[in-house]
Amino acid sequence: MKTAAPSVTQPRAIRVHDDDNVAVVVNQGGLAAGARLDLGVTLREDVPEAHKVALADLAAGDRIVRYGTVIGYARRSIAHGSWVHEGLIDPPQPPALADCPLATAPPAPLPRLEGFTFDGFRNADGSVGTKNILAIATTVQCTAPTVKHAVERIKAELLPRYPNVDDVVAIAHHYGCGVAIDAPGAAVPIRTLRNLSLNPNFGGELLLVSLGCEKLQPERMLGGGALKVLAGETSVAVLQDAEQGFGEMVAHIMALAEPKLQRLNQRHRVPCPASDLVVGLQCGGSDAFSGVTANPAVGFAADLLVRAGATVMFSEVTEVRDAAHLLTARAATAEVAQAFIREMAWYDEYLRLGGADRAANPTPGNKRGGLANVVEKAMGSIAKAGSTALMGVAGPGERVTQKGLVFAATPASDFICGTLQLAASMNMHIFTTGRGTPYGLAVVPVIKVATNSGLARRWPDLIDVDAGRIATSEATVEDIGWEIFRLILEVAGGRKKTWADHWGLHNEFVLFNPGPVT
Ligand code: CA
Repeated sequence: MKTAAPSVTQPRAIRVHDDDNVAVVVNQGGLAAGARLDLGVTLREDVPEAHKVALADLAAGDRIVRYGTVIGYARRSIAHGSWVHEGLIDPPQPPALADCPLATAPPAPLPRLEGFTFDGFRNADGSVGTKNILAIATTVQCTAPTVKHAVERIKAELLPRYPNVDDVVAIAHHYGCGVAIDAPGAAVPIRTLRNLSLNPNFGGELLLVSLGCEKLQPERMLGGGALKVLAGETSVAVLQDAEQGFGEMVAHIMALAEPKLQRLNQRHRVPCPASDLVVGLQCGGSDAFSGVTANPAVGFAADLLVRAGATVMFSEVTEVRDAAHLLTARAATAEVAQAFIREMAWYDEYLRLGGADRAANPTPGNKRGGLANVVEKAMGSIAKAGSTALMGVAGPGERVTQKGLVFAATPASDFICGTLQLAASMNMHIFTTGRGTPYGLAVVPVIKVATNSGLARRWPDLIDVDAGRIATSEATVEDIGWEIFRLILEVAGGRKKTWADHWGLHNEFVLFNPGPVT
């Protein structure tokens, strides 16, 4: 979609904050020893692209500062101009949750933005769809291949008659039986499946396919509350009720689908205010540029969305854990801060029981991309959340109802986070990536933002926005932030397609199941 920027020729490194004693090399391919940076430092050794260079002489044990925050301590003395790689940095302790400040510095509201709209599908419950999809949900994995078979037949034989319906999607998953269904952890996947079925892009219609003997029975999955929220008709097909084999099962699902397709087909896009957007933010395949280009630009767009009255969700517990003290201070109320701390504490315990800690988060790709540890990753990650007050917190799989900036607790795993954000009622998804991934979701459009122009150049048919132009000084954070905001409105209104939707790249639904499997 975008013309890639030319590569930088002058040696260049970015310092984010005046207190920083490291900067990140911007030049594609890195810089050789002897290169003189515009920050007044000459490199003593080769430094790869997106990796850090010391701007001052550091003694062993000295603080290493990026984003104005200590991202670690020097393992040994480091001379200015040296490559500050992962092996030279001892990570700091995570902030103690008990010491986190509660709503001590909530930012004042920014001026309201009026007049921005998109054409969406208005639902009976007031929510708005950005796509018009028939969802066929499942209680259990046993039904998934049958439902997928039925979906192929519906798409081939029925869908052509209903041109206002965008897609038919099977909500297939690995849960529903062979699990400890009454264990405390089971509440998470069960409510995820329930709330996923209520996603605004399904228009209040739901077709649910059950096997019959599974632990997760339809009533348990949907619950009375969910059935009340759905304005349309909920139909349940039970495969074990079939008397005449597979053909009857598929014919039954298709017969239940047809009246739903008819009703969905009568819906049309109508002008809706930007406040009807529920935008989920995520990053995947991060690099050291994430926190200086794509994430601050997305953060600027997040502020615009909040100013326009929309809901903006950020997630990924292990990537915000090291910035917990900054986010609790930004909470609108002490109750919101405490809810945030509760989610962090739950996840600390979940990791402890699994014999892991947050240090398990950065991937080999993150590290090759210049991210030394989870603290550096977290500081870059929370830039996505912009600068407004934290208005609400949701647990994994819970529905988000507040407007403004909301934290929806999820693992950082791309497809699990995406699935949980869909359950939280997301209708648009923004995904920043440095290393690159073709990630996409069937239910909502996914706008992919590259942190560096090299990726945007290599993958022009997968990346929707090139935020690397910030590193090369061809665009500002504000420029790209406005570009993302306007693109969200265009895509949400069906006037433009993301690359993931162009190619039909749709990752699977992956549930977060912290409970035992039997
Ligand atoms: Ca992720």
